[in-house]
Amino acid sequence: MFYDAVEVASRDELAALQTEGLRRTVATCLASPFYRRRLGALGVGPEDFNSPLDIRKLPFTTKDDLRVGYPDGFLCQPREDFIRLHVSSGTTGAPTAVFYTANDVAAWANLVARCMHAVGLRRGDVFQNMSGYGLFTGGLGIHYGAERLGCLTVPAGAGNSKRQLKLLRDFKVDGVHIIPSYALHFGQFLRQEGVDPADLGWRFALIGAEPHTERTRRRIEEVLGLKAFNSYGLTEMNGPGVAFECAAQAGMHVWEDAYLAEIVDPQTGAPLPDGETGELVMTTLGRDGMPLLRYRTRDLTRFIPGECACGRTHRRLDRITGRTDDMIIIKGCNIFPMQIEQVLMAMPEVANNYLIELYQENDMDQIRVKVEVRDEVFAAAAPTLAGLHKRMVARLRDEVLVTPAVELVRAGSIPAAEGKAVRVEDHRLLEPA
Ligand code: AMP
Ligand code: ZN
Repeated sequence: MFYDAVEVASRDELAALQTEGLRRTVATCLASPFYRRRLGALGVGPEDFNSPLDIRKLPFTTKDDLRVGYPDGFLCQPREDFIRLHVSSGTTGAPTAVFYTANDVAAWANLVARCMHAVGLRRGDVFQNMSGYGLFTGGLGIHYGAERLGCLTVPAGAGNSKRQLKLLRDFKVDGVHIIPSYALHFGQFLRQEGVDPADLGWRFALIGAEPHTERTRRRIEEVLGLKAFNSYGLTEMNGPGVAFECAAQAGMHVWEDAYLAEIVDPQTGAPLPDGETGELVMTTLGRDGMPLLRYRTRDLTRFIPGECACGRTHRRLDRITGRTDDMIIIKGCNIFPMQIEQVLMAMPEVANNYLIELYQENDMDQIRVKVEVRDEVFAAAAPTLAGLHKRMVARLRDEVLVTPAVELVRAGSIPAAEGKAVRVEDHRLLEPA
């Protein structure tokens, strides 16, 4: 029923595992130039950690620290023990590199296999990885997990919908990994091709790598005719396999034998009680090559209180609602792109894609939302479109408290990104004031 017995370990057992993992990790960290300096200055060692809460004795590690240590200031093993590296997408500034030993790659594959098992995939199933390979962890990370589980794994890579469809059919694929924005795009492609998704016989999609709302998930399930499961990870914590939905689809279990997760106030860094939304901070507990202590992910979420129906004891993270660095401030109002997506995806007239543009007018920051609408709506009479436009502006204003300019555009006219979707274009610095 469970892939690893530890998935249902008692909370006491998990706390003991975490304490042990924390001690070992602190000991390992002392081998890296960066942490040797930092921990040395603090005067703390492995013996100072007697419960998972003792993690609070440590300072945070930030993205800037990773940049300072770039490329190899965080390595804790001899150079020849490393067999892989990945580089994060760097949507927010300079990229960071993560190095893996053979043990790290194997442990990571095991976590991903555990996630895939939790959604219902099994040995002997056929799995197509429709995300980009290369430096992006969603390629090889998911690939190794699928192989580890014993799936026949099709490394399709991103894009080329025609070929994707052929592979899905020829090899009778049971499950896929696909980025949410591409999943919607692929659904539209199936419709254009006159393919009934039910005929494909596929059952599972793992969707992740970019923020998306519950509405978007439901849409993906509808247009692809399968169940879609939220998959969370980040390069600094290996990549995918950090937190994953189980069949209950009620939040993502974060694997607490492998990671120590905290939610903190993004301003003060103070720990927040269970259930409150803040910034996710993560510590690796089993990584040999490049362990990280209290890494600030910048992702905003919360722990979902209570137990999951599936019986797993590892706590669940709620959907990521945004990043501390993607907050837009317009006319004094804090706006997260996901608030806008939530409004748009709840409107049946809206097609797959949207784009938020920031610009300046009369010395004021302004926000414009370009929204694709379905062909039949776009072709409708002018009053219908005007009515939709009015409703959309009103709903967006109610949600974000400023009135955005809204432009309705034809479905497919906003180019779909190859990898992670780009939701915000900031023209404020480019346009003359
Ligand atoms: P990268 O390391 O380049 O793959 O980017 C990792 C980041 O992608 C995370 O820190 C999140 O901001 C985002 N991300 C990954 N998975 C999800 C998910 N399931 N939901 C929302 N955001 C995600
Ligand atoms: Zn569960």
